[in-house]
Amino acid sequence: MVHPQALTPLALQRIARTEVELLRGLDHERWLLFDLDGNLLYTAEGDRYQVAIPGAVLRRLRPAAFSHNHLWELAHSEGDIVTATHEDFLLETRVVGAAHRYRLARPKTGWPDPLEVEDFLRDAWIEEWAMLEDGDPAASRLLRRRLLEQARGCYADPTDQREEIAWATCYLGRVEQFSSVFEAPFVVEPLP
Ligand SMILES: [Zn+2]
Repeated sequence: MVHPQALTPLALQRIARTEVELLRGLDHERWLLFDLDGNLLYTAEGDRYQVAIPGAVLRRLRPAAFSHNHLWELAHSEGDIVTATHEDFLLETRVVGAAHRYRLARPKTGWPDPLEVEDFLRDAWIEEWAMLEDGDPAASRLLRRRLLEQARGCYADPTDQREEIAWATCYLGRVEQFSSVFEAPFVVEPLP
């Protein structure tokens, strides 16, 4: 079978509907796997900061799309992007935030090498924070906190709106950089 390049509009519609139904307003992260027609294949529950899918499940189901929610308005994390690049059958990885959905699609030439992506994302993150630092005196404190949290393997819990905005900006900037360098289509849509 020829590997399709993109999900059909009908499949995307079904996925979008299921996301709104199953991912909004949760107090924890939930992961959904979809097939090419937009049928829900699998659901996994996580905690407030992350959710994991067993590798064996991915290999068996070979989903065409992933979707999961973030409790705050954050685009794909580094882990979300790297996970996608390991799965050649995956056409789209999606994140549902508080008010928007973020859709990152597979480049036409396939997902880039995960190791190369990890390096790239680390640099992109540093660059995003540096830009933030230029305009925001609180940024170096935020960066320290981010690094500490990263060491614990989870996301920080933003405690005020300003931090939330700083985080959201950096996540978004990093995904946009990935999208432009690796030619992976990236779309942000408001949730209904
Ligand atoms: Zn995530």
